[in-house]
Amino acid sequence: MDSLYRATRIDGKVFAAGLVERIADEVAQIRAKTGKIPGLAVVLVGDDPASAIYVNSKQRETLAAGMESFSFRLPATVRQSDLMTLLERLNNDRRVNGILVQLPLPAHLDTRAVINAIDPDKDVDGFHVINAGRLFTGQSSLIPCTPLGCLMLLKDRIDDLTGMKAVVIGKSNIVGKPMAQLLMAENCTVTVAHIKTRNIAELCRTADIVVVAAGSPGLVRGEWIKTGAYVIDVGINRVEREGRSRIVGDVAFEECGHAAAITPVPGGVGPMTIACLLENTLTAWRWQNEPRPLTNDND
Ligand code: NAD
Repeated sequence: MDSLYRATRIDGKVFAAGLVERIADEVAQIRAKTGKIPGLAVVLVGDDPASAIYVNSKQRETLAAGMESFSFRLPATVRQSDLMTLLERLNNDRRVNGILVQLPLPAHLDTRAVINAIDPDKDVDGFHVINAGRLFTGQSSLIPCTPLGCLMLLKDRIDDLTGMKAVVIGKSNIVGKPMAQLLMAENCTVTVAHIKTRNIAELCRTADIVVVAAGSPGLVRGEWIKTGAYVIDVGINRVEREGRSRIVGDVAFEECGHAAAITPVPGGVGPMTIACLLENTLTAWRWQNEPRPLTNDND
């Protein structure tokens, strides 16, 4: 290991807490100035326990930031048309600035149609095809929370990402693809790797930034990481180790001491996701109440 580098652990919990504090301050200022507060509506369909936990923590954090939280719990058997009617109502409700439908939805519902029924300017998950298109074309958009959080963590460490070589492992619509777009907008040279990519290790070894969102525990080994590179581990994997159930990432964290900085799992990217949901709700409020900026792109 190069003794010049001892990887810094990027503490996503601390960063996210600071971000939520800043958001809460801004919400308080909006309230003082306008008498209004940004509102987030969360829709949960069915009774999946993991989804219920996510939704509860999203609501708790929304309230903690001083925002209004609207909660809708629908039975797993809900008809698509009834869900669409609810979304239409929320789209037209001026107290609701952000709308989130917790995924996954039961199989009988058309997830793509549901997401695209949300007003794009209230789509705080950034999954609507219009927001994906805006991001792709460098227009200001609501950006999926997890990649937005990853970018914030990187920009906290790196003043200017221009010209850096980035490898993103994973090409899902919610993490990999938007992550690649965000890094490109920062003028990185981006390679996207996925399950069918050959020689991922070699690609990674040349990268200044590696973002891993594969859902494959310990996929990225220390020897894949260049000395002084930045490593962002998005993976959340439940594994059994020494008779205990543990959450681990996609990167062999303990092998990456020669990186410049690395996110742990848990405590890295995870806490940023909810903080960025609140950030997006605030952004949505601004765009519904003030002129919106034209571009995300840094060209
Ligand atoms: P996904 O299953 O939709 O996509 C996974 C991607 O990784 C695919 O493009 C696939 O080709 C690629 N991949 C899988 N195994 C691979 C391998 N062995 N080598 C190379 N590429 C491989 O998953 P997702 O929704 O993008 O999530 C990815 C991971 O991130 C999961 O572990 C998920 O739990 C986690 N996640 C975390 C957060 C968070 O808040 N921290 C949010 C979303 C997702």
